Amino acid sequence: MGLLAAALLVGCSAPAVSTPSAPEAPTPASTAERADVAEHLMETVQENDEEAFSATFAADVDPEFVAMLWTNLDLIDLSLVEERSDGTWRVHWKVPGEQGVATHLIAADVECDSSGCLIAGLGQSGTSPEPIWLVEPISIQHTAYVALVGGGDLAGWQIPAGEASAFLMASPTDDLVQQASTQVVEVPGSTEAFEKVMGASALDFADAGAITWVANSGGDEDTVSAAPPRVVINPDTTQDADKTSRNLLLVHELTHAATSWLGHPADGQLWVSEGLAEHLMLQTSDAAAQASNQVLLDHCPLSDAPPADADFADPSKSELAYAWSAAAINMLLAERDTGHSLHYLWITAGEQPELIGPVADCG
Ligand SMILES: [Zn+2]
Repeated sequence: MGLLAAALLVGCSAPAVSTPSAPEAPTPASTAERADVAEHLMETVQENDEEAFSATFAADVDPEFVAMLWTNLDLIDLSLVEERSDGTWRVHWKVPGEQGVATHLIAADVECDSSGCLIAGLGQSGTSPEPIWLVEPISIQHTAYVALVGGGDLAGWQIPAGEASAFLMASPTDDLVQQASTQVVEVPGSTEAFEKVMGASALDFADAGAITWVANSGGDEDTVSAAPPRVVINPDTTQDADKTSRNLLLVHELTHAATSWLGHPADGQLWVSEGLAEHLMLQTSDAAAQASNQVLLDHCPLSDAPPADADFADPSKSELAYAWSAAAINMLLAERDTGHSLHYLWITAGEQPELIGPVADCG
């Protein structure tokens, strides 16, 4: 199917005034037809054939959307579009230079008539996270070890991202922090775009400046390459943030991305992950380090047991949980040959740190 099919369809869409039979109504494509269209769409991208790409869409699909998609796809590496047994498509893609391949489920409406099958719609599959290039017009900017992608304020994040990733690359945390050579940070341009990228309501992230997660909404099947960790900026909570705040936020989140190879911490060990991210963040700002220490002093006498996992999500406890964890990690890193012991704490449920004293001087 190509230009000819598209031309015929355009012809058919005109009112059939003098034709005795009514125009043929398109019917939903079969699984095999959907798979053919997915494959053909992929070919048009690989062959860089914009005309053929546009011709895979039905005439009533918004041409601006099709043009946006074409422009966006030129910026990323789309490696596969596959029809799945549940009737969704799974797209495999990455930002150029990124290690790993993101996989997203998307909804594809494919219709056929006697002249062939065309895409009548592409978009979010239920509440599944949607790839940002399907959501809005994107740009990509590279800085140090970060690639910023999205329709948001890339320029405003470029310097903080460059400084944060360069700092992390130089930080002495042994083998725990393994930053990618190209870490992707997604910067959605609106609340609506953020919600689609997250597949969730923005209300769920009202306290979060950014989220670090693994870019895979496509189920558990094996893929060619592991899905990469990505940082997603929350536009609502960061639009007024100054450069210092953005830098602190990114050091914290990029630490999460660079430690995602360890997997989620074992039960009760979230303090190791959050403490490491917070500890490194505090290394970049004396003011933030002093404020964190003051939180500890305000809570004297201090427990020598780590905060519970739930404390980090509890607004009445999270401030102390972060401050305690950062101070504990700071002590552990200073005390010993660290990499392996932090790794052990990370993966061992309920394991307590052996601290040589309280995490702050309560006098
Ligand atoms: Zn965190």
